[in-house]
Order: sequence, then structure tokens, then C-alpha cells
Amino acid sequence: MEKKDNKKSIQDKLSTIKYNCASETHLKVDEKKCLKCSEKTCTFICPADVYELEPETGCIIVRYENCLECGACKIACPKKAISWEYPQAGYGVIFKNS
Ligand code: SF4
Ligand code: SF4
Repeated sequence: MEKKDNKKSIQDKLSTIKYNCASETHLKVDEKKCLKCSEKTCTFICPADVYELEPETGCIIVRYENCLECGACKIACPKKAISWEYPQAGYGVIFKNS
């Protein structure tokens, strides 16, 4: 039996995934809650760097196009500020080959 290579970098693993980007986001944040959030967990929990803090405004930029649909951000957000749905049918992650 072939042994799996568990030493692949996250970049190697990400390169095995293909996307079909939807024109509308499947991830939304509640900006009022985010402005009061001191943890900013979303900015370091996401393996695909979807969330970025904009230092001048304190707002969270959401690059939904990069989302791997793992669900970690929704679970980890301390204020339950993330509205998370799967992308519409035929969009998002469409192929995985690990
Ligand atoms: S962790 Fe949640 S509440 Fe905090 S900034 Fe991120 S999305 Fe907003
Ligand atoms: S579902 Fe996973 S990949 Fe997508 S934004 Fe949340 S943590 Fe990042």
C-alpha cells in the first residue's frame, strides 16, 4: 500500500485545489461586532488568509475567493460575527487531489 506524504507544505496542499469563483461572497462579517473584537481570531485561524485587518479603519477585508470551505473561521470567531454558507452550486472548491 502506498504511504501518504504528510510532510507537504500548506502551499503544496493548496496547489492541489481548484476553484470556480462565484461573483458574490458566501462569507460576510458583521462589521459592528468586528470593530469591538479585540481577538481578531479570523486573521490568524484561516489557512487561506481570507481575512485581513485594515489598520486604518479597523475593518476586516474578506477575500472570499480564496476560501477552502473548512468552516474554521465560523467556529473560532468569538463574537459569532461570520455569516457562512457554502458557495452556490458549481462554485467554490471544485476539485481536490491530496
Ligand atoms: S474574529 Fe470574528 S468578530 Fe473578530 S474580527 Fe474576526 S470576524 Fe470579526
Ligand atoms: S471556511 Fe476556512 S478557508 Fe474559508 S474563510 Fe473560513 S477559515 Fe478560511
